[in-house]
Amino acid sequence: MTQNKQTAKKIIITGGISGIGLAMARAFAGTGAHLVLGGIADTQTVNQISAQMDACGAASCVIDSTDISDATAARQMAQAAIASMGGVDVLINNAGIQHVAPVEQFPPERWQAVIDVNLSAPFHLSAVCLPEMRAQNSGRIINIASVHGQVASANKSAYVAAKHGLIGLTKTIALEMADTQVTCNAICPGWVRTPLVEAQIEARAAASSDTIEEAAYHLVSEKQPTGRFMRPEQIASMALFLAGKDADNVTGTAFTLDGGWTAQ
Ligand code: NAD
Repeated sequence: MTQNKQTAKKIIITGGISGIGLAMARAFAGTGAHLVLGGIADTQTVNQISAQMDACGAASCVIDSTDISDATAARQMAQAAIASMGGVDVLINNAGIQHVAPVEQFPPERWQAVIDVNLSAPFHLSAVCLPEMRAQNSGRIINIASVHGQVASANKSAYVAAKHGLIGLTKTIALEMADTQVTCNAICPGWVRTPLVEAQIEARAAASSDTIEEAAYHLVSEKQPTGRFMRPEQIASMALFLAGKDADNVTGTAFTLDGGWTAQ
């Protein structure tokens, strides 16, 4: 339902210009929200996404290319978003990166980068948004974690550590805000076919005689008994639920959408 521009929700989505983040941006644009979308992109992509958000019904859309691996920059991004929208109702910490290598060969700078983007940036953005949310006694923080926040896979130490940490951060914020109408929850997707995963499919195909589609199938079915990827739009539906009225007493939890991965 499209909202009045004055009452439209004000939403920040980090990594909102591709993959799962873009699907969430479209879904929230469809509710008539004001959006600030983070993500690193060229001018042409920024223009295309702005046009898409307009077409979907966003009240407004700003695309912010801040590199949120830097703590000060991440905090400034949140402050600028709040200033441009005149507040914040929903913060979705979605930006994420991956690096695949065994611990013994994991480059320390890649470890740090994964922790900075996947765990520290959500902390910094939340720290800036929470006082606003507390003052208005409403708000939602939605952290896009992963099944790797609940179980591990070999060769993904930094990602697994960051996502486990993100679920811990989610629970802590939920408890600290429990005397307000501000909630904080995590979504834990299994495999979703996005640019982040496409790189892993390509690496797998290159290391075998598989075609890209065979490599994709082998990748997903190794973990997910359904043998099917989650779709970005399905993650977006869960985010819409968590941002909505029916979720006003749901906090500190993690919703797993994973094709049966963690049922095993
Ligand atoms: P994606 O690569 O399509 O999107 C990641 C986004 O993060 C991009 O928009 C990118 O610009 C942004 N980003 C990365 N580094 C950044 C930085 N330093 N500063 C600012 N922005 C930065 O990936 P995706 O698959 O859509 O992933 C979105 C989230 O979902 C991630 O947190 C990821 O860990 C999580 N996730 C993905 C899957 C999956 O199978 N795709 C599964 C579980 C969890």
